[in-house]
Amino acid sequence: MEFNQLIRDIQDFPKEGILFKDITPLLGSPKALVAAADRLAAVSPEGISIDKVIGIEARGFILGSMIAERLEAGFVPVRKKGKLPFTTKQRQYGLEYGTDVLEIHTDAIQPGDHVLVHDDVLATGGTAKAVCELVEELGGIVVQCNFIMELTFLDGGSKLKAPIQSLLQY
Ligand code: 5GP
Repeated sequence: MEFNQLIRDIQDFPKEGILFKDITPLLGSPKALVAAADRLAAVSPEGISIDKVIGIEARGFILGSMIAERLEAGFVPVRKKGKLPFTTKQRQYGLEYGTDVLEIHTDAIQPGDHVLVHDDVLATGGTAKAVCELVEELGGIVVQCNFIMELTFLDGGSKLKAPIQSLLQY
């Protein structure tokens, strides 16, 4: 499956000077969508059980829930501040300009849970790192971080302790 042909470059989105990788053509292809979920659900070491899959708002929800279904794991949304209704744990993380806050429900992860963290793109790694820290604060173990795409020139992987899997590397 040629996933890279289904990623569209959008110049100057969301701001001037940024080349945005648009995953919607991949999501819109029935074959690519299923193949991407199958590949990202192949967690190593083989046979390790995953209790929870985290999807990071908002593009991480799409394949995150498909991966959870394949692994027979629960799905946990991590959302931007103010969106989750129950008690939350929060983490501030750095953006290119300024900071933002991510939240998780305090009962979403049980101590000892094996967790897979999924998002569409790994860029600087700030987002995924904040999510891994939230999981660890709740006593969970991040078994893998996986992404449709990794922008390797930004070296986000060096911020993450857990093994990384991605379908595409730029
Ligand atoms: P990081 O925190 O690793 O710098 O940024 C990752 C977050 O920004 C992810 O949640 C991802 O959705 C979003 N992101 C950054 N760059 C891109 C991009 O080029 N394409 C897409 N689809 N998302 C991006």
